Amino acid sequence: MALIVQKYGGSSMATVERIQEVARRVLARQGEGHDLVVVVSAMKGETDRLIGLTKEITDLPNLREYDSMVSTGEQVATALLAIALEALGGKAHSLLAFQIPIRSDSGFKDARITGIETARMRKLLREGRVVVVAGFQGLDPRGCITTLGRGGSDTTAVAVAAALRADLCEIYSDVDGVYTADPNLVPEARRLDRVGYEEVLELASLGAKVVQIRAVEMAMKHRVPVMFRRAFQGGVGTVMSKGDKEMEKIVVAGVAYDQNECKITVARVPDRPGVAAALFQPLAEANIAVDMIIQNVSEKGFTDLTFTVRREDLSRARRLTEAAARKLGAAKVETDDQIAKVSIVGMGMRTHAGVAAKMFQALSAAGINIQMISTSEIKVSCVIDQKYTELAVRELHRAFELDKKPAAAGKPRARAKK
Ligand code: ASP
Ligand code: MG
Repeated sequence: MALIVQKYGGSSMATVERIQEVARRVLARQGEGHDLVVVVSAMKGETDRLIGLTKEITDLPNLREYDSMVSTGEQVATALLAIALEALGGKAHSLLAFQIPIRSDSGFKDARITGIETARMRKLLREGRVVVVAGFQGLDPRGCITTLGRGGSDTTAVAVAAALRADLCEIYSDVDGVYTADPNLVPEARRLDRVGYEEVLELASLGAKVVQIRAVEMAMKHRVPVMFRRAFQGGVGTVMSKGDKEMEKIVVAGVAYDQNECKITVARVPDRPGVAAALFQPLAEANIAVDMIIQNVSEKGFTDLTFTVRREDLSRARRLTEAAARKLGAAKVETDDQIAKVSIVGMGMRTHAGVAAKMFQALSAAGINIQMISTSEIKVSCVIDQKYTELAVRELHRAFELDKKPAAAGKPRARAKK
């Protein structure tokens, strides 16, 4: 008998019929003798609808109130699933984050989980109930409702699995696993059977929409095995785990792209100590994540600084940057929202040379200009003109032969058994 945490995303919860189907599957799984905790997202489109309502009033809402509002989609979904479970003769009990509680910091709209009490969930499990937990929500130290960022139910699921020391966390969505690239862009994209935490971390942070990045960080930190599966279908998915030698033989596991970033350039900033701090401190204080940063070689005591932020943060970031730039005496602030970031990711890059060069070569052969570059141990990213995203992803997928199943995978172990 295992303790399993399942997570169903918005598309699995899109209609009452689907919620009833989720309920049937949950009860079937429980019937196999397992304890089940089910984390759910809001019904498909609901969170967008709620955000749309606040946008009709203002682009800069009070974030405490914003979170109270956008978290309601999960309340509806959680209770509906519990009702569906009981209608089928099951025993269920829904819990919102504040009832558990799932504690978080006060970073409204993007809060981080700081701790989860397990007593109430354990008691309900002992009573033989399916515990249905609202994803996406937290409770801050002052008793305010917070939300965990878009896609935050994934993080709720992994965090609950870690807190309960669950045997497995299954994340159900409308994709059946982690792919070598977005199959909508690259028809030859392949599903990976196994993938390392770090690879998913990069792929997710780069815009491959499998799972929320914090969920992967959380899984990696607590070593929670996670299985990504397509809802309402049998079949294997992708298992995410620590990774091993065999997985590291694969140099590039996947190509990702991200069209959700914008570029901000501060032109002619005086090149002296403290400038970067003066520019980025206000952004950090406003909880705005800065991704790539490039500072040009300075000329006669002045330099240009370019960085990227998420699209949804652009108006706030621009306002803060303009204020800082004015104080610093910079010439001007420019923004560009027509960019995309394409990246190649793989644990095998650690031990293979020439991967970046091959990427630049492939992009140049396609006539694509590279505006910014960043690298880490297991990834290389390039910012390009957004209109070339599709072309770039396809060319990279081809250049690294990702459509072909790597010969090394699986073989040695199969041989050893003979
Ligand atoms: N409902 C939230 C969202 O749409 C959380 C989630 O789906 O994971 O972002
Ligand atoms: Mg979702």
